[in-house]
Amino acid sequence: MQVWKFGGTSVGKPDRMRSICGLITQDSQRKIVVLSALSGTTNALIAMGELAKQNLRVEAQAKVDALLAHYQAFVSELYDTPAGLAKGAEIVGAEFGFIGSLLAEAPFGSKQEKELVAQGELLSTQLFAAYLAEQGVASVLLPALEFMKIDDDNEPVLAFTEARLADILPQHAHQQIIVTQGFICRNPRGEIDNLKRGGSDYTASLIGGAIRAEEVQIWTDIDGMHNNDPRVVKRTFPIRELSFDEAAELAYFGAKILHPSTITPARMHGVPVRLKNTMEPTAYGTLIAEKTNNMDFKAIAAKDGITALYVHSTRMLNAYGFLRRVFEIFEKYKTPVDMITTAEVSVSLTIDDATNLTQIKAELSQFCQLEEPDYDQTIVCIVGDFNADKPGLCAKVLEVVKHIPIRMISYGGSEHNMSLLVHRHQKNEILNALNEGLFEWND
Ligand code: ADP
Ligand code: ASP
Ligand code: MG
Repeated sequence: MQVWKFGGTSVGKPDRMRSICGLITQDSQRKIVVLSALSGTTNALIAMGELAKQNLRVEAQAKVDALLAHYQAFVSELYDTPAGLAKGAEIVGAEFGFIGSLLAEAPFGSKQEKELVAQGELLSTQLFAAYLAEQGVASVLLPALEFMKIDDDNEPVLAFTEARLADILPQHAHQQIIVTQGFICRNPRGEIDNLKRGGSDYTASLIGGAIRAEEVQIWTDIDGMHNNDPRVVKRTFPIRELSFDEAAELAYFGAKILHPSTITPARMHGVPVRLKNTMEPTAYGTLIAEKTNNMDFKAIAAKDGITALYVHSTRMLNAYGFLRRVFEIFEKYKTPVDMITTAEVSVSLTIDDATNLTQIKAELSQFCQLEEPDYDQTIVCIVGDFNADKPGLCAKVLEVVKHIPIRMISYGGSEHNMSLLVHRHQKNEILNALNEGLFEWND
């Protein structure tokens, strides 16, 4: 069995949704099809929720009306038959009725907000299942809320998904196409929750890991993982092969094509992940698997919104236990540390979640001196084959970026990652410089 996930732009227009029907039925492979919300929907739902939280009900209703008109137009273009059109109108009517009643709840808190945001995937999957039915394609719509769950740390409970799917899937053993929602799940209180923005990729990989799928395919609007961020750099190219480790680094450090955690469950069970372009299905895309080729430089990604902390202590001189004390504080506040560099009496580190920064600083200052943090930093992650026996690669990177101020460098943490910390203002310049300097261009 394979798991195929289609993102927002891949389902965002009626003709795209139609072409997905063609794609998933072109072979006889049994598939679980995971869908995102139509592009723009999650943003619109979040905006409505913000307005409802501020009790701006009229403004929220105006957004609902605009989104409803969008879906009505979508339905009238998607379906061919009177029965299909009626079914589409019924789905949209019921969903928007529910959205209206949710927005009317007072107080409107985070529980309502999460339920509201989930309606995007609930809408897209129902509309798609109805389209398949209209086209005579047999399928079943499985509610993700029955098998996707997160724990108190907002981490997916893979064992739960595994057990639930082992129970549910045999009940549909005769179905070739199984449709479900990406992104949405339940939390330990049984409420509707989600896997954070872009989370449908993660759903696909969690399902793939849980059922030990033959392959997970992520269908999007670009022909695979590119060597650099195409939103920032003019000329980029798709990479045919990546290892799980390389892809995980790129996703975690900002390659938006994949949710940061996507690779983890697939790697855990050795399930290959293929990235494909819905708009150009014959393009090779990217295959992410255990083994790959060992190019010196493979790809670059960048993660914004980073805060750098500088910690000094003369007690660190020849001491042990100091780093443990520092890291215990980050653990206490559930704040992951991304980059770390050390000198004899100081340590610099970066975090991307500054929610608890005030408390973290207060506790650190009890046993060390802190310099003023640097805010608005960007981690630039270079992925390649940096085997310690290969000389010159570090020098090549530093030569290419020698005109750009670098705040931190991390090298040797793994054989395939080198990270540089720069101010966000330098991001475009450094990504372009690395692009020109580290890859072969025939001009
Ligand atoms: P979907 O809606 O299908 O989940 P996303 O918008 O989340 O799609 O991800 C696809 C987008 O990721 C691309 O359109 C591209 O602009 C962006 N992107 C950023 N970095 C990369 C990269 N290294 N390779 C490919 N795409 C990237
Ligand atoms: N619809 C969700 C989002 O926009 C999840 C996804 O698209 O992957 O973030
Ligand atoms: Mg995405």
